[in-house]
Amino acid sequence: MGASGTVRIIKLLFGLLGLVALGCADERPPTVYSYDGWDGGYFLPVDAGPPRYNVLLFIMDGVGPAQLQAARLVKQAPLHFDRFPAHVLMTTEASGGVVTDSGAAATAMATGRKVTPYTLGVALPGSGRPLVTALELRQRTGVPVGVATVETPLVDATPSAFVAHQASRFDEAGVASDYLRRTRPDLMAGGTSYNLGRVQAVAAGYVAIDSEAAMAVRSPGVDRVAWLFDEARPRLPELTRAALGFMSRGKPGFFLLVETEATDTHGHANNLDGVVKAVLELDQAVAEAMAWMGNRTDTLIIVTSDHETGGLVLDEPVLDASSDSVLQIDSAVEDALSPFTANVPPHHYTTTSHSSRPVDVFATGAAHESVLRVSDNTHLFGILAP
Ligand SMILES: [Zn+2]
Repeated sequence: MGASGTVRIIKLLFGLLGLVALGCADERPPTVYSYDGWDGGYFLPVDAGPPRYNVLLFIMDGVGPAQLQAARLVKQAPLHFDRFPAHVLMTTEASGGVVTDSGAAATAMATGRKVTPYTLGVALPGSGRPLVTALELRQRTGVPVGVATVETPLVDATPSAFVAHQASRFDEAGVASDYLRRTRPDLMAGGTSYNLGRVQAVAAGYVAIDSEAAMAVRSPGVDRVAWLFDEARPRLPELTRAALGFMSRGKPGFFLLVETEATDTHGHANNLDGVVKAVLELDQAVAEAMAWMGNRTDTLIIVTSDHETGGLVLDEPVLDASSDSVLQIDSAVEDALSPFTANVPPHHYTTTSHSSRPVDVFATGAAHESVLRVSDNTHLFGILAP
């Protein structure tokens, strides 16, 4: 065999080794940054090396521009995150359809890939293999990572898309196992469920608590906490403050997700009053985070949503000529539209499901300029991962 034949064999062996290595690794997003619409992709490069900034990601489930406008009208003032220097709209389509669910939407943000609705962190359509998430990429560098949600079990879709890898979000046993045995975030907070309660968390090596007061307790040597609540749960501002206190004890570069699910639940019920109350509670949590941040330049705060719920439309109040007052809502319209018009503006919903409307993204702090380039939910991955 000549020298060139030997070279060919060596090249072939390296090629085979490469294929074996690819087969063993988690499925990573491609490193070519092109956006191909329906099947995802992202254009922001992901750095190797330690994270350059902390990430605090707020997700308001099921909130679009109209829900935020209603909240401003009720508050009679801008929302705290209206003052953020970056603000764009992004599309939320799932793979294969214009309307997404929380699983596919959060997977797109967490991994940069569009997936089939009801999927959590796996390549479907495609190989079905796990897609590495921004939370996991940060975790590999040794920084603290955490997820927190209220008004829903922790195993619900939005936080789980950052932690779990399941073909169906409804496989709660599989999702719980991914929390406790696979990804093991340093902080997990949310509602209890059959598969993920305090007993299971303690058995998996977590310090588990069920009360707001206990969130502030810092035991030396405790590196994994599960704040799992039954009926009584902390409000988002208190939860956010306690979570930030926990996360900032570790190496710089933490990743923390804070979600409110109540906005989506009330959206499905076409209850704008409930949606607005939940948005305003999250707005207070954002104020808490801004106070924590102060002048520090090492933290990126993003406030966004996974999709819009309800197809909400705000309506013009009807001028009542028989009245002295300037604007009155016609009582027939009021009855037809909503029982909550004393508190929220006139409006009507167009669906009890999710809609295809784009959602807002607000950002401040480190690297917030990157958010100005976001126009689809997959683009957030490149900003969350470094
Ligand atoms: Zn929903």
